Amino acid sequence: MKIIFHENYKKVYAADPAAARGRLDQARAELASVYPLLEPAPATDQDILLVHSRQHLERIKSKAPLYDMALLAAGGAVEAARTACSGKPSFGLIRPPGHHASVDSCWGFCWFNNMAVAMEKMRREQQVAKGVIIDIDLHFGDGTSNFYRDDPDIVYYHLDSAPELQTVLDSVKECQLLGISAGFDRHVQDWGGMLTTNDYRELGQTLGDFSRRVCPGRVFAILEGGYNHSILGQCIQALCQGLDA
Ligand SMILES: [Zn+2]
Repeated sequence: MKIIFHENYKKVYAADPAAARGRLDQARAELASVYPLLEPAPATDQDILLVHSRQHLERIKSKAPLYDMALLAAGGAVEAARTACSGKPSFGLIRPPGHHASVDSCWGFCWFNNMAVAMEKMRREQQVAKGVIIDIDLHFGDGTSNFYRDDPDIVYYHLDSAPELQTVLDSVKECQLLGISAGFDRHVQDWGGMLTTNDYRELGQTLGDFSRRVCPGRVFAILEGGYNHSILGQCIQALCQGLDA
């Protein structure tokens, strides 16, 4: 397991809960004591245009500090996907999140769709013909879902229940890359009040078992939501332990 992280992710770039001061600090410290960190490069405008309209890109570009951070987050997702494609599972401790960003619009603390940019970049590099994206955030990733709605080669599934997740995974016959939109805002001590830290370990195990069966080692997760700064690190570690098992 490798953790993708850049010190600039600590910068406050907006006034929303995903951009809050100190949000990633404890998680970074906890993860760095267990896993190697890998520093990503920012995505390029060309990468962003694999997913978003020129208009959307220009709108974000006009918001200076935000644009740089959004490029760095997308670059972190690309690095996470690339690490996975080399056979090593990875977790992108990145922000801003991305799953509410559609081709020409965005909301919910998201600017560029990090997951879609990473998946499209890997497709463009012919690393992936068929992929699966599992979104475990509390909120439905409408941006990612919109982007892949008519795409027969990329499955998008937002976690409903563990048995349903298993059914979805069992139905996948071919996949070269598993991407996980990892939000932790369902935690009992976060907004959703639903999942324990151990539930994230079990989710990681389920997703890890799938990747070992279908696309060995080719699994990456990237941070979406998760707003309780003091439990974020332990939740990520639990997911990673499951993925690595
Ligand atoms: Zn969320």
